[in-house]
Amino acid sequence: MKFVLSIAAALMVSACQAEAPRDIEVIKAPAGMSEVEFAKATLNRLQTVSFANNREYCGYILRAPDGTLAATPASKGKVSSCRGTEAPEEYLVVASYHTHGAFEYDTPAEFPSVGDVEADEAEGVDGYISTPGGRFW
Ligand SMILES: [Zn+2]
Repeated sequence: MKFVLSIAAALMVSACQAEAPRDIEVIKAPAGMSEVEFAKATLNRLQTVSFANNREYCGYILRAPDGTLAATPASKGKVSSCRGTEAPEEYLVVASYHTHGAFEYDTPAEFPSVGDVEADEAEGVDGYISTPGGRFW
């Protein structure tokens, strides 16, 4: 009996893991907000934690089937890279967003990097970036 229960528990755990990507709670944009305004508000919210940890934070701006905008919750990346959480299937990915962390003398963080542009191009989406100096690209 104990053996059967542990198999059942193992199956439940693996089923939950398989479901995880679709269970992401997206952040909905306030009604009437444009894509650019929403991207700016999303990045603005992340600047403080991005500076404090000197890490990039990133995600995707999405369009819901009803036409409204949403965003994936931000993922914590590394000092100069970040991989966003996959969007739930029913949403269309329209753009990526990421912060550039804290100021460092050796890092040209005030501009989008070649890698930033190439990554968005490869995914076929627009990209929004916030910099330590307060620029919004
Ligand atoms: Zn970047």
